[in-house]
Amino acid sequence: MAKQQPLHCSFCGRSRDEVQILIAGQEGHICENCVEHAREIVLQELPQLSEKNSGNSNFKLSVKKPMEIKKYLDEYIIGQDDAKKVLAVAVYNHYKRLNQKADNDIEIEKSNIIMVGETGTGKTLLAKTIARILNVPFAIVDATVFTEAGYVGEDVESILSRLLQVCNFDVNAAQKGIVYIDEIDKIARKSDNPSITRDVSGEGVQQGLLKLLEGTDVLVPPQGGRKHPEQKLIKINTSNILFICGGAFDGIDRIIGKRINTNAIGFNVNKDMQELQRNNLLQFVNAQDMRHFGLIPELLGRLPVITYLNPLDPAALRKILTEPRNSLIKQYKKLFQLEGIDLIVEEDTYDFMVEKAVEYKLGARGLRSICESILTDAMYELPSQKVKSFTLTKDYAMGKFNVSKLNMLKVA
Ligand code: ADP
Repeated sequence: MAKQQPLHCSFCGRSRDEVQILIAGQEGHICENCVEHAREIVLQELPQLSEKNSGNSNFKLSVKKPMEIKKYLDEYIIGQDDAKKVLAVAVYNHYKRLNQKADNDIEIEKSNIIMVGETGTGKTLLAKTIARILNVPFAIVDATVFTEAGYVGEDVESILSRLLQVCNFDVNAAQKGIVYIDEIDKIARKSDNPSITRDVSGEGVQQGLLKLLEGTDVLVPPQGGRKHPEQKLIKINTSNILFICGGAFDGIDRIIGKRINTNAIGFNVNKDMQELQRNNLLQFVNAQDMRHFGLIPELLGRLPVITYLNPLDPAALRKILTEPRNSLIKQYKKLFQLEGIDLIVEEDTYDFMVEKAVEYKLGARGLRSICESILTDAMYELPSQKVKSFTLTKDYAMGKFNVSKLNMLKVA
């Protein structure tokens, strides 16, 4: 059934006689003019495409100087100056290390960070805000899930699956991301004594984390979970991923206190100093204390930067309500404003909220529930009424709070 159709270019339609070369494909032909034209298009498009796919360009652009990082953190986080400074420097150095050429004989080590501070004092918020300013992928994982799963070696890799997912499986971006490992204190060895062989659950997870923190190639199941044979795995190198760990380390103040007291021989520490030390021992935390708490030395070696967060006093809680760029009250005001209602909060209402947060030991996280308990009725009723403004007085707040479920939390 040979057809005698004249050969022509399938792209421009020119016949065999009008062109010099006609290259045959499976079902058509292309002439030299169209090849040249296609080449131009490819050259034009390729750089943009590769930039989009690599995700590389973003990172270099958004590295900020430590003071700029701190200033940015100040907009979102109240207090915690020491932690902010330490983090800003560590993060800056980390990204400086990334930009360092490999031919240097001085190799800058990773500056993975560990933060100690009561729950709800801003550890996660700090890590999250830093990732935002640098515009790098950020994932939060909870160290306790690894303990529960038991099968240590594989599960720690799911940390990286999380990171891959947040950046749409852009491996390059993931390799420069930040991972926040929460509740690192929960995988502490239960006893300071390494010879106790039964208690390996926490220690096993710590061992599993070592390579990851230091930098290694890891095969990651893209959707997380366990690896299975048919699954396609993605290779991620963790050398440039910054790990920030956080934990409350309940009771570490006693360990610090003990160390400090034994170090301060005699009674030549003055009264003020003693008072200061008692009130906030966390500021003196070091690797030795964490080791006593139950973190293995190898893990601590890979978390060289240690910092602490202060407990939040009423003054700090008061500021948290209104001062951060996206503070709770600003958010509620926005919600009301979208309804055409001007939300006015009287000063002593703030004091009342803080008082309750302290009284019920709810901390900064509790401020949100307190606001909800006070404002839910207003947010339910006002959209159906034609009001232009709503003033939140202390009496109103008290009335709503007293009948709320939160109030029942009060320990008699
Ligand atoms: P942690 O990780 O230390 O347990 P988070 O960072 O998750 O605590 O804090 C919980 C919430 O409390 C935050 O989302 C934020 O709204 C508020 N918060 C806590 N500490 C601060 C702070 N220092 N400045 C502003 N908000 C804070």
